[in-house]
Amino acid sequence: MIVDYHMHLRGPLVDGSEPLVHRLDALQRFVERAQERGVDEIAFTEHVYYFVQTREIWTRPYQLDRCVFDLDAYCEVIAEAKDRGLPVKLGLEVEHVGDRQGRLSELLAGYPWDILLGSVHWLGDRAVDAGEHAADGIWSVLPVEDVWRAYFDALAELAGSGALDVLAHPDLVKIYDRRPARGVVERLYEQAAAAIEAAGVAVEVSTAGLRKPVGELYPDPYFLAECARREVPVTLASDAHQSELVGEDYDRALKLLDTVGVVDVAVFSGRERRLEPLAG
Ligand SMILES: [Zn+2]
Ligand SMILES: [Zn+2]
Repeated sequence: MIVDYHMHLRGPLVDGSEPLVHRLDALQRFVERAQERGVDEIAFTEHVYYFVQTREIWTRPYQLDRCVFDLDAYCEVIAEAKDRGLPVKLGLEVEHVGDRQGRLSELLAGYPWDILLGSVHWLGDRAVDAGEHAADGIWSVLPVEDVWRAYFDALAELAGSGALDVLAHPDLVKIYDRRPARGVVERLYEQAAAAIEAAGVAVEVSTAGLRKPVGELYPDPYFLAECARREVPVTLASDAHQSELVGEDYDRALKLLDTVGVVDVAVFSGRERRLEPLAG
C-alpha cells in the first residue's frame, strides 16, 4: 500500500500562489493526481494555525494573519469526499507550541481526526524554515549547533506530548544545508530516534526536502535507519501545496525505505494505526 499522508488542500494557481479553499472540486484534483501516481490513500493535513478555532494559541503575525478559516468547513469537505467513497483521510499539521500544547490539543478534541502530524517550524518566536537570512529566523541569532540542539529538544518534547501520531519532516532543521559536525548530527539523530520510540509515534519520509535548498529527503538515511532499528513506524509524504505534487519523487522515498529495510507503511484511521506491506 502506498499513502501520501501530508498535503495542504489548495485551489489551482492564481497569480503564482495557491489559494486555500475548502471545496470538493479542489480536493478531487488531489485525488486524481494520487490515482495517476499509484497512491492508494491520501490525508489532508492543513496547518493548524489557519483555523479561527485555534486563534487563542497564536502570537506571531505570520500565524495570526492566516488564522481566518473555519475548521468545521475543512472537516466537512473531507467528510463529504469520504461519503463519496474517495480514499481520503482527515488530518492536520499541528505545531510545537511548548507549554500551550495541552491547550491546543483541547481545542482540537472532538473532531474526527484520522491522523495528526506534528511539526517544529518555530523555536520560540524564531522560524526554522522562513529563510536562512529571515529577520525573524533562528539562524541569525544562534550558532548552527545550538539551532540543531534546540530543534531536537523541541522535537522530543513534541513527540512525547500526545498531540500527534506522526512527526512531519523530522529533520527539517537541515533545510538550508547548515549542519554541525557529522558526529554531533549522528548523536542528535540517535537521541531523537530513542525519544520517538519511547513516545510511540511514527515518522514520515518526506520528499519535500528534495525541493528545498538542502535537496535531500527528510529524514537523513542515518536517522531513518536509527528509527527503523527501533521499529518506529513510517509513513510517506509529499507535503504537496498543489495537487500536481501529490506522490512527487516517491521512487526516491521508496528506494530509501528499501535501503534501511522498511517493508511496511503505517496506515491511519481514527488515529488508530496499523501496518500494511508497502509492496502489493
Ligand atoms: Zn511543515
Ligand atoms: Zn506541511
